[in-house]
Amino acid sequence: MQTYPKLRGSMPRTSGPKVLVHRVLSPTPEDFIIISRVGVGVDFHYYAQRSSECDAPGGDGHCEKCLKNWPLKWRAYLHCLKREGQNNVQCFLELTSTAFQSLEFQTEGRKSLRGVRIKVSKTAGGKKGRYIITVLAECQDAPIDMEEADPLPTLRALWAAPGKKGQGQYVNPD
Ligand SMILES: [Zn+2]
Repeated sequence: MQTYPKLRGSMPRTSGPKVLVHRVLSPTPEDFIIISRVGVGVDFHYYAQRSSECDAPGGDGHCEKCLKNWPLKWRAYLHCLKREGQNNVQCFLELTSTAFQSLEFQTEGRKSLRGVRIKVSKTAGGKKGRYIITVLAECQDAPIDMEEADPLPTLRALWAAPGKKGQGQYVNPD
């Protein structure tokens, strides 16, 4: 921890680890090791080319945007280590409901997703492409010593960032 002996009042905030929200966009498979025990399902609205949080996730309660019929989206997020060359880089992997169902189906019988290795690619066709998920053998040689992180603070920061879309933005998950 850095100290500032010649300063009083508020200290600069430490940046902490940066975690990227990651979407798989191409037919080239990408490798991930899942850190999360379970995925986090998130409802959000997409309106005027911007995403914003649904204030009544799951449809209970009151959300102005729901009442205005702003289009609603659902995605699941998994805290993962993404294989990049020799390195593992943390990310929040974004999956559609179909993709998440495929993952659930392939991991049936497991209590937790933690430690599961997956390969993810997307069929050609740009935005209309579908995710292809393959669960690989369990990653027993690489125990995960990292606590899982909640994707919501990162997503909220992305949604609040002016003029930015979710992909490729680094924000502090804490
Ligand atoms: Zn809503």
